[in-house]
Amino acid sequence: MSDAYTPDDGSGIDATTTPGGTEHTRDEYEPVEVFPTEGMDLRPGADSCYKCSTCDTECPVAEVNDEFPGPKFQGPEQWRLKRNEDTDIDDSVMKCSNCMRCDSVCPSSVPLSQMHNTARGLYVEEQMETLSREYIRNRILSNYRTSAWLASKVPRIANVVMNFGPARWLMERTLGVTAEREFPAFATWTFREWWADRGGPRVPNDEKQVAYFHGCYSNYNTPEVGKAMVRVFEHFGYQILVPEQGCSGTPMFANGMLADAERHAETNVEGLVEAIDDGAAVIASCTSCSMALRQEYPELFDLKGIDDLAANTYEALEYLRINEDLEAALSESEVDSQSFAYHAPCHARNQGLATQAVELFEGVEGVTATDVGDSCSGISGTYGWKAENYETSMAIGEEMFEHMAADEAEVGMTECPTCAMQMEHGTGYEIRHPLQVLEAALC
Ligand code: SF4
Ligand code: SF4
Repeated sequence: MSDAYTPDDGSGIDATTTPGGTEHTRDEYEPVEVFPTEGMDLRPGADSCYKCSTCDTECPVAEVNDEFPGPKFQGPEQWRLKRNEDTDIDDSVMKCSNCMRCDSVCPSSVPLSQMHNTARGLYVEEQMETLSREYIRNRILSNYRTSAWLASKVPRIANVVMNFGPARWLMERTLGVTAEREFPAFATWTFREWWADRGGPRVPNDEKQVAYFHGCYSNYNTPEVGKAMVRVFEHFGYQILVPEQGCSGTPMFANGMLADAERHAETNVEGLVEAIDDGAAVIASCTSCSMALRQEYPELFDLKGIDDLAANTYEALEYLRINEDLEAALSESEVDSQSFAYHAPCHARNQGLATQAVELFEGVEGVTATDVGDSCSGISGTYGWKAENYETSMAIGEEMFEHMAADEAEVGMTECPTCAMQMEHGTGYEIRHPLQVLEAALC
């Protein structure tokens, strides 16, 4: 799990010489405890930073907010400040949206998001007052699964109450949840209820199995995305498993709630690794969920099977492109003429998936998908729901809104549910998931 560097020059001599000429044995060095998370050692990564500032130029928050010191400070520089243990974590770490764009541009492979997540976790644990409005609000937002579970028991009432003007005003005044956004509707029938009602998988196939990590949003808000996934994968002959699962932890990482995230990760790792042991690959329809399972889990937690899970997790479309001849399957298909303004989520970019949807639909008769550029949507999960971040979030999203408006399409497309919220909020467009477009073309 750790990136700790163990010098080994192959000489068999357990000694090093400093530039001043003094020879030390390795035993003389006392490791410096920087972020005292058990088993974590980020020193080698921080020392790899050569201050090129490439990460800062890529940061969407720093671009619109001059007071945000940027990823270089949040990661390697904060580490250096913290090494004497007389400096607190700077509270600006809570202004990082965890978009992870800095992570993928660093030419020196500094583990920036691992540092940010670790620092944020420490900040919340040691410096944030648990009775403060910010802590209570962040805890509620990051445990969206709990609120969504409650709302799913009375979805029609929840949908009315959550979007009742005075209730939104009150939530902003008391909790600091912006009243500018409309709450997404809760489904009257969750994905898991639909799955149980249809009797689970309809295609038995020991040779081709996938375990679906649906995440909170596809379960409670957009079960149509999960259903599209099921129909598309069954079209290709896959047996689908839907193991017990919690939240991916993505909103918890962004809010420094690492203990909550680890609890959910334990449930997810257990259920998904069991499916992997039975021969299944893990797929997710949300790019932030696949990002969490692939990268953030092994960076932050030490759980049995976590590396297996990371190595066997794919975004759903990515998995099909690797394992099926999608182009051939789509060459015969025809859908009602439709143009889409496609936005690649930051977490899709981090996984190298930024162009997959546009490339895929290029060959489908009747479908036009245009990439609206590489800017961040600005919402970054819970970030844009906080009243104090709303203006920043919309300023970041402005470029995407303008590009969407300039495109002739009036329907948006993206893999990330909160990017979809922001696209809809900024343009009024209806938004689809690529799996829904694929379903229309194939099923
Ligand atoms: S991109 Fe990497 S090497 Fe350059 S300043 Fe940022 S962390 Fe340091
Ligand atoms: S994760 Fe995103 S918001 Fe946070 S420092 Fe990196 S680029 Fe900036």
